[in-house]
Amino acid sequence: MRICESVEQMRRARVLTHPDGCVGLVPTMGALHEGHLSLVRAAKARCEPVVVSIFVNPLQFGPNEDLARYPRTFERDCELLEREKVDIVFAPSVEDMYPKNAVTYVTVEGMSEKLCGRSRPGHFRGVTTVVAKLFHIVEPELAFFGQKDAAQCAIIRRMVRDLNFPVEIVVGPIVREPDGLAMSSRNVYLSEQERKAALVLHRALSEMKNCFDRGERSAGGLVEAGKLVLSQEAGVRLDYLEVVDPDTLNPVSEIRSETLVAVAAFVGRTRLIDNIVLQEF
Ligand code: AMP
Repeated sequence: MRICESVEQMRRARVLTHPDGCVGLVPTMGALHEGHLSLVRAAKARCEPVVVSIFVNPLQFGPNEDLARYPRTFERDCELLEREKVDIVFAPSVEDMYPKNAVTYVTVEGMSEKLCGRSRPGHFRGVTTVVAKLFHIVEPELAFFGQKDAAQCAIIRRMVRDLNFPVEIVVGPIVREPDGLAMSSRNVYLSEQERKAALVLHRALSEMKNCFDRGERSAGGLVEAGKLVLSQEAGVRLDYLEVVDPDTLNPVSEIRSETLVAVAAFVGRTRLIDNIVLQEF
């Protein structure tokens, strides 16, 4: 496994790849868990070589967020990736990725302000800018993202379409702990008590799915059922619970086709997200 610690090294490694190869990219911020590794395995099944980027992207963190304390476990990450037979790890420095006075951004207007974008202004602009840069540097044929960040997937799909990136976006399912909590690098922040309280996100989504399966089709009715579950956990402060179109992220009032139900909440100081997709046939 080759570790490229600069854009220059990554570009040189890319040039050396076989012309018939199908380069797969899995962008991550490190602190890897089974959710990330499931994407790596999906990439290995379809691509050669597989590149995993590890970059805690300052541009997608707000001024009062957890950039400084975000978990960094580079050596362990590399061991895990080596075991998965990843070909290249791309782990550039912040200075290399963002030269001084960089002022160019990619914004997916009208979508970047939705869901997490509302409470985290600038977050999705940071995501699309870094992903656009990664696509230019690594030039993957396929790029793998997790459904865990459903809004991110929708926004990246739109960016790729609007800007003609020659990249196929592959979305992998949410990987959960055995008790239902969606895996996240941020779960390490949770105390034992908060870890239990955090389960309420999945419980609320499951209750909404049950209501849907019993025939409820109004978004208002579903949200009410979800909020009732969430309100039963005192240490959890809801950021949003929304029923939206999975492609545009626009709210829907009646469920008539595939619909995304997305939740974000603070468990203590830790902000967690989760979602489910309701399928209407
Ligand atoms: P992150 O390191 O949090 O930026 O995540 C890197 C990639 O892994 C993103 O595409 C995430 O959506 C994906 N990911 C994170 N957690 C999970 C999970 N529990 N299941 C599936 N994919 C995930």
